[in-house]
This record gives sequence, C-alpha cells and structure tokens, in this order.
Amino acid sequence: MQKIALLYDASQAVLSTFDLDEVLQRILVIARDYFHLQNVAILLLDKETQELCVRSQIGWDEGHDKIHMPIGHGITGTAAKQKRPLYAPDVSKDARYVSSAKATRSELAIPLMVRDEVVGVLDCQSENLDHFDKETIDLLTLFSTQASMALQNARLYSLERHRAQQLEAINAIAQQTTAMLDVKELLAKVCSLIQEAFHVNHVSVLLREEDDLILRAHHGTLTPRILEGGRLPSSAGLWGRALAAGKTVIEHDVRVISEYVGFFAETASRMCIPLVSFGQTLGVLVLDSAETGAFHVGDTQSLESVADICATAIQNAHYVERVKQLAYLDGLTGIFNRRFFELRISEEIERARRYGTGLAVIMVDIDNFKKLNDEFGHLLGDEVLRQVSSLFHQQVRKMDVVCRYGGEEFAILLSQTNAEQALGVAEKLRRLVETWQFPGVPRPVSISAGAATYPEDGTTRDELVKAADAGLYAAKQAGRNLVIQGPASTQSSAHSVAGRITGKTLV
Ligand code: GH3
Ligand code: MG
Ligand code: MG
Repeated sequence: MQKIALLYDASQAVLSTFDLDEVLQRILVIARDYFHLQNVAILLLDKETQELCVRSQIGWDEGHDKIHMPIGHGITGTAAKQKRPLYAPDVSKDARYVSSAKATRSELAIPLMVRDEVVGVLDCQSENLDHFDKETIDLLTLFSTQASMALQNARLYSLERHRAQQLEAINAIAQQTTAMLDVKELLAKVCSLIQEAFHVNHVSVLLREEDDLILRAHHGTLTPRILEGGRLPSSAGLWGRALAAGKTVIEHDVRVISEYVGFFAETASRMCIPLVSFGQTLGVLVLDSAETGAFHVGDTQSLESVADICATAIQNAHYVERVKQLAYLDGLTGIFNRRFFELRISEEIERARRYGTGLAVIMVDIDNFKKLNDEFGHLLGDEVLRQVSSLFHQQVRKMDVVCRYGGEEFAILLSQTNAEQALGVAEKLRRLVETWQFPGVPRPVSISAGAATYPEDGTTRDELVKAADAGLYAAKQAGRNLVIQGPASTQSSAHSVAGRITGKTLV
C-alpha cells in the first residue's frame, strides 16, 4: 500500500511541472517524508568535469550545494561509478564515506539512470544506524526511476524551450533585417539583436575587403581594443581558421590558443561563424564572452541559421547600394549623370556657404556634334562622348565631379575654386579636346564652355547653372571652341561682351 502511494505521489510530482528545480525539490520532500530521512540530496553529473554536483537538497545548511564529488569518490561517487545503489549501514566503518553532515550514521546512494547512462545520484542520509532495510532500498530504487524520468523530462523541456526561444529570436532577426537596406544600420541592428537574443557578451561583424577583414559593427559589454572600421588580417586568428575551413569554430579558452587575435580586452572564449551568401564568403560573425567555455556546440545550428540570414541581408543591402550607385551613373560613359550633379551641387553650395570656400560650375557642350554624327555615324559619336568623358575625368582633381548633363553636354563641379582657376581648368579641357586625335574621326573635335563661380555669379543652384549656361551660350555665339566666364547674357546690354573670354580665336 505504502509502495503504491509513494509511486503515485512521485509520478504526480514528475507530471506537475517542467521546472527542473521544482521537480527535484518535490521528489526530495517525498523521499524525506516517506522514509523519515534527515538529509536527502540530488546530485547531477557534470559530463565535462566528471563530477557530481549538488543540484537540490534538504537538511543541510546553505553552502552544501557547493559540494562537488568526483566519480568514484565517496558513497555517491562510487554508486555512480558502479551504476548501482550503494548502501553504507554504518558510515563510520566505510572507508569510502566522505562526511557532509555530522549526525549522519547510515547513507544510501542510488544512481539516477537514463537508459544506460548515469545522470546523477539520489543521496539519502539518516541519523540512525542501518536505517534502510532491503524493502526500503528496493522502494527507493524504484522511486529513483521516477526521479530520473522527471529529470529527463525537465531537461528535454528546457532544451525545447531553449530551442523555441532561439527559433523565435531567429524569426525576429529575419523579420527585422531582411528589409533593411542601409548596410551600416543593418549591421548595427544585427549585432544588437544577436547579443540580446543569445545572451552573448559581445557580437561583431567582420566583412571582407580585399585581403583583409574590416570590423564593420559591434555591440556588447566588452572593452574594444580596435575602432570600428579597423582592419584585421583575414588569415589570422580563429576567424582565419573559420574562413579557411568554411566552418564554425568555437574556442572555449582563447588564452591557450597561439593564433588568437583579440580585439576586446576581456575575451575568454570565442565563436566564429563564416558569413556565407550564395556560396560567397562575405566575412565572419564573431561572438565573444568574458567567461571560458561560454559557447556550446548545441547552439551552433541556431547561430549558423542567424549568420545565414545576416549574410543574405548584408548581400541584399550591398546590392541595393550598388543599384543606388548605378542610378547616379551614366550608362554610356560611366561618369556621373545629371541626377548626381543635382544632388552634389546643393551639397557643394552648402559647404561653400558654411566654410567660405569657393565653388565653380563649368558647363561644356561639344561643338557641331550633330554634324559629327551625320558624318561618321552615331556609333562613332558615342565613342567620342566616351572619350571626352574620360579625358575630363582624368584632368580634374579627385574631389571634383564630372557629370554628363545630357546629350553632348557636361557639367563639372570644382570645389574650393575661384573664377581664374575655373577658367584655367575649362581652357585646359578645351585645348586638350581640340588637339586630341579621336580614332576614326579624321578632323579636330572642339568644345565650348561657360564657367560660373560662387558667390560672384550666383548663390543658388539655378543662378550658378544659369550663369554658366549663359557663358556657354555666349561662347557658341562668338564662334565656338571658346571658354567664356561669367553670366554674359544675363548682364545688362551695356556689358554685352562677356566678362572674360578665352579660346583659340579670341585670346
Ligand atoms: P552646337 O555646336 O550648337 O552644340 O551644335 P550641336 O550639333 O552639337 O548641337 P545640337 O543640339 O543641334 O545637336 C546635338 C546632337 O547630339 C544631336 C544628337 O543626335 C546628338 N546626341 C545627343 N546624345 C547623343 C548620344 O548619346 N550619342 C550620339 N552619338 N549622339 C548624341
Ligand atoms: Mg553641341
Ligand atoms: Mg547641346
């Protein structure tokens, strides 16, 4: 009767909750009450250290939970090693006994088994000598199978919950990142989402650039040793191993690794996951922890899924960035288009206004281009446009902007440039084109240009373009192959001759 009641209570305890510690406490209470014990404990096996550690106990003072018993030591360690219950009816006469409670006179240790594997030990101690008879031992052994089951259920449940939480995190990361098209913003978000969802100390994204890796973003609590944008050799460190093998690398203790390269002061363990999208390795996701052994092989799959999502999102954002760039490039010549000119001229005017630096706009138009097309064909006309673009591009400074404004017309933005310098540049271009041998065109090609400067000729985009256009118009009127500066046609009739004229025919 007692047996049935005990097993019923035990199974109720097992089924009542999935919380491991609560289940264990209930089991211990039942064991203590049914068998009149003073001290009962459940010790769990730590597979890595092969030690039994107290997980739940009744009867001891605080601090007992800190006790670790190596397999093969004490009554509990020996029972675990032998995989069968071990009874010491008089602990004072048992050499294996390790004292943990002064009053204990007899001790029974029953291994908790899952299939053929020891997962822990139920430890029962009594203040009576030879407290456990054969029937009690059998009953407790039976009871311990219930405890094992509870343990296993709770573990599975917590693993499931862990998995479910990770799945939720993966979903959230996918939802929040796939639509983000700004690379910088995306990387920052990715780092913070992973850091939160996976409880990692620090998350970093290293992206490939030529032969190096660049720290593009990071988020967490550790102290960085390099700045965002910092360069790291891609073959070094654990990431070098991860990239070379195309596999995730976990290092439980970075201090023992000779190839370890740290960029956070406190890193003790690290996980590196290659970021791969459509077979292309974009970089590495690096997780750092201040604790040794913080990363588990069991979490690899989830984190690799996250890395895959991130890699795709990064690829998307890169693609969009490229498309954006393409939207500002002229298809025929490869130089910037008018849309880019409109964007930049506002920025340049703002800069010139703020810093009091000069700014010049040159409008250029190829002379008699219609005739050139008619004479040599449209395809050759296209080639002339490409070559003129390339000549202009080579002649100006890196910071200057050459745009195809339309048809055979170009707009050039020269920052920190005054009227004289602008005129010099335009004249240099005019001469270069005039003397250039365009393949397939057995005669000279010429250009006309008008230049305007901020703030003399105008302070807004419209005023500056209008003034440069006026110079260009005046150059055409004056016979072409000319450069004219200033808002010639916008000036009063008294100043009908342009401010300054340069060019082959008039200089
Ligand atoms: P002007 O000296 O007054 O500038 O005379 P123009 O013939 O250069 O000027 P007009 O505006 O009369 O003609 C421009 C020509 O440029 C007409 C057009 O066919 C040609 N054109 C515009 N875009 C392209 C292009 O992409 N490729 C080629 N081959 N020709 C083009
Ligand atoms: Mg023309
Ligand atoms: Mg034209």
